[in-house]
Amino acid sequence: MTTQLFRPRFHVDECLMEIRECLEKGWTGLGFKTIEFEDAWRAYTALPYAHYLNSATAGLHLALNIYKLERGWVDGDEVITTPITFVSTNHAIMYENLTPVFADVDKYLCLDPDDVERKITPRTRAVMFVGIGGNTGQLERVTELCREHGLVLILDAAHLSGSKLHGKDPGLLADVAVYSFQAVKNMPTGDSGMICFTDAELDAFARRQSWLGISKDTYQRSNKGGYSWMYDVDTVGFKYHGNSIMAAIALVQLKYLDDDNSHRRQVAQCYDAAFATSNAVQPVPVAPGCVSSRHFYQIAVDNRDAVMPALADIGISTGVHYRDNTLYPMYAYAHGTCPNAHRISERVVSLPMHLDLGKDDIDAITTCIIANA
Ligand SMILES: *Cc1c(COP(=O)(O)O)cnc(C)c1O
Repeated sequence: MTTQLFRPRFHVDECLMEIRECLEKGWTGLGFKTIEFEDAWRAYTALPYAHYLNSATAGLHLALNIYKLERGWVDGDEVITTPITFVSTNHAIMYENLTPVFADVDKYLCLDPDDVERKITPRTRAVMFVGIGGNTGQLERVTELCREHGLVLILDAAHLSGSKLHGKDPGLLADVAVYSFQAVKNMPTGDSGMICFTDAELDAFARRQSWLGISKDTYQRSNKGGYSWMYDVDTVGFKYHGNSIMAAIALVQLKYLDDDNSHRRQVAQCYDAAFATSNAVQPVPVAPGCVSSRHFYQIAVDNRDAVMPALADIGISTGVHYRDNTLYPMYAYAHGTCPNAHRISERVVSLPMHLDLGKDDIDAITTCIIANA
């Protein structure tokens, strides 16, 4: 047998129909389907604003860029972040010449609020929280901490599409949430993302800034038909907005998101049941109150170096989410500051999680792990 770690599923005919509409209309860029998808995402999440982008990496950068400009942050100001994440999270901080300060993680692999609090200094401006694998961890406590200390809370919601915390989208707890619809995320398109500010002005700023800082507002208001080509440019923006082809796929994928996530949760339950009697295999728990998108199913084992090759031998792909980012030369200055993250990052394994996994696959995977752990 062979089993990939992730295997995106697309509803091909429906996607093609949506894309055909773009092609026939001659509108593949910004606007049209991007607006339709923004509306659909707001309706789905109950978030007040949503702006469609070409990736979540762009969105994380945009969030920091906009807050830095709006709040007058200066180079070297600090953003508390996690060493257990995809590098996008931390690179986004570097793009703005801000300093990533690493806080440790808890048993959910998400930021530990106690360590976040210890790492606050007079220069701390924001906290970047990552919902690992769909888990919301102790997000509510981090939200409270940010309110108490006047810090901006940026939610890296790359894995959180469709996750719920006490029945609501976790994005509602942040100042800005950034979702990813990259090719192998739990709501895959080709590449795209969404930035959701809670503030109307910041949302409007994000719309300008994601299109090179171009502002049509002043001219649109006064335009009596003569100056539709006129615009202003007040800031150095980026080319970060999404396009209608990707949004066409996203509109279809969103219709199936809840069903797909619930299918993934069933797979997770099968894994949980198989590991329930094993002392050597510890599934990463889902936080209370969280209904996870289950983008990942992760276990911790002491002898990962035996377990991963044993699975590879029978055709099973696995992954590590993530390697402690402070091991990268880029972030080595923080090495040793997050002992839990370091320890867990050496033991954690992600198992195949997608919609084509059958009972037989799960049996083969869990049997192999239990025999080798
Ligand atoms: C995938 C991912 C990103 C980046 O998303 P893109 O849409 O690929 O730019 C950011 N953060 C985390 C945690 C991710 O897994």
